[in-house]
Amino acid sequence: MPPFKKTLAAQRERALAVVRKLEAEYPEATCSLEYREPLHLLIATILAAQCTDARVNIVTKTLFKQYRSAADFASAPEGELEEAIRTCGFYRQKAKSIREACRDIVGRFEGRVPGTMDELLQLRGVGRKTANVLLAECFEPAGVIVDTHCRRLSNRLGFTTSGDPAKIERDIMKLLPLDHWRMYSHCLVFHGRAVCNARSPKCSQCVVRELCPFPAAPEGRKIGK
Ligand code: SF4
Repeated sequence: MPPFKKTLAAQRERALAVVRKLEAEYPEATCSLEYREPLHLLIATILAAQCTDARVNIVTKTLFKQYRSAADFASAPEGELEEAIRTCGFYRQKAKSIREACRDIVGRFEGRVPGTMDELLQLRGVGRKTANVLLAECFEPAGVIVDTHCRRLSNRLGFTTSGDPAKIERDIMKLLPLDHWRMYSHCLVFHGRAVCNARSPKCSQCVVRELCPFPAAPEGRKIGK
């Protein structure tokens, strides 16, 4: 396969072709956390760190009946919230993050989850990844959600050479128009789970193989990044 051109225009063209193919392959790609309002998604995203979305959805089904507002979470009795989310792991730290973020929502934003990156980053315990999930799903995207799949695949596809989520986010934003940011992240999660796994990417089954500069590793071979 000839090397891909590295000019910005060529990279943009290739990135757009990749995302269009992935969108066609995974039309159902979406956020797998269940929520009915921004507060739910904020809580679910905090719980999803180092935990499966399926487990989080089981926990939040009950949790969101028990606590209905940011004020409820902010004043949750010590120990009670921890017990309710225990099966999500790291429950003490996650309960602290939920309480603190909800206290900020009540104290500074009149009980409503704010809808801009700057405001979301003012909430204790909320970083860029959580803020980007909120913005992509509930408001106006301000960036790209960079999780482990996005990091790995964006590197393999040659859209970034960085391991730093903030730099990867900037690199992808330079290559893709805003209306593809959300689906780029979701499709990479689906593609990363189904085909482009961390250890053994199934390049021969990959719909973007012709657009990918990553050395076509024989399936089953153990590889790095
Ligand atoms: S060709 Fe291989 S490395 Fe490239 S995106 Fe597809 S599965 Fe991943």
